[in-house]
Amino acid sequence: MKIVLSYGLGADSTAILLRWLIEPATRTFDLADLIVVSAQTGDEWSETGHLVEQYVYPLLAKHGIRTVQVARKSKSQRDGIVILDDTRTPTRCYVTGAYKLSDELIDVATVPQTGGKRLCSLKSKGWPLDTFIAELTKGEDFVHVVGYESDELSRMLGDAQVVGLPGRIPTYPLIEWGWDRATCEQYIHDQLGVWWPKSACVQCPYALATAAGRARTIPRFLAHPDEAMRTLTMEYLAVAINPRQGLIGGRQLLDELEATEGSGPLLDQFEQHLDSLPWAIYDVRRAFRAHPDDMMRPANAARSLTRVHEGTRGDMIGGVRFMATLLHPLGARLETGRHHRLWLHERNLYYPCVEQLVAAAPALASDKTNKTFSSAWRAGLEGPAQLSLSF
Ligand code: SF4
Repeated sequence: MKIVLSYGLGADSTAILLRWLIEPATRTFDLADLIVVSAQTGDEWSETGHLVEQYVYPLLAKHGIRTVQVARKSKSQRDGIVILDDTRTPTRCYVTGAYKLSDELIDVATVPQTGGKRLCSLKSKGWPLDTFIAELTKGEDFVHVVGYESDELSRMLGDAQVVGLPGRIPTYPLIEWGWDRATCEQYIHDQLGVWWPKSACVQCPYALATAAGRARTIPRFLAHPDEAMRTLTMEYLAVAINPRQGLIGGRQLLDELEATEGSGPLLDQFEQHLDSLPWAIYDVRRAFRAHPDDMMRPANAARSLTRVHEGTRGDMIGGVRFMATLLHPLGARLETGRHHRLWLHERNLYYPCVEQLVAAAPALASDKTNKTFSSAWRAGLEGPAQLSLSF
């Protein structure tokens, strides 16, 4: 039977692999049956890839273990996946992937969302892995090794209850061994002499969700300014067109960095980076439906995003200010500071309602209007007492 290990490049699955290689008595199968599969989101920290290349791949190659790296081919699942590598002598970790999760997020001017299902992970990791494994196993029974830690029983339960791929027999070695994250990290350190960093996308909001996570992650941004640029640009664009966005539960990573000692050079580099980009003025419209049980809560929103002008950063900010002089008499409100936004309609206290703003931001997002936007916009305009100006 095939043994398929989902290798997320982090401490958990690295510890499993190492223990199986170093202590053969901890496994019940032949290494010839083991297939190590990683899904590359395209946004993993490069240092993780270097560690994998330096410490893990030489061991996998020495034992001739089949090692596969897969990724999404494009935004659409219809296009399938890319096999980045499929070899028994792995050397290179393709952390840059194929179609990057960050490309998709920047294209729609948003950041990964916390809360609810981890959609970004399902799309960029779960789906490519399942697609490859389904093709590999063709419905036959296989053992799927998952690196949940000893204190992740609820995740284990959720995973085991999912009706997943046919023939899938899940197994959780770390839970069987009673290993938590600290034990995994210590084992890797004892064997390899390195403290294994957390594996995650550079822009992962979960890595920033707690004080401990921020204490781990902020120094990574300071140490890797080139990787920080993409994440900061993603957040800057998302916040420009929706001030409720931000990578730290609606708060901004940029604020956190500004409050961090020693971040001056990184922030200067980011300002220069923003200056170097093409910019646009965006027309952003959102239409909110009312929650069925509470007209003071939105149910969902439909959005229309359109670039109305393009040019340099200075020209686009000047353009928003000029529009403000034209529309101020009608009640439009100009916001200045880190972002320039001109509010034409502001969100009402009651739903349904609409909001509209024009904002200057890097010209990296594409025009996109949700299919339901027109009807939602009309319903929003007819909602209870719009309090802002109306054209
Ligand atoms: S590491 Fe974070 S951002 Fe990347 S796919 Fe997973 S949850 Fe999403």
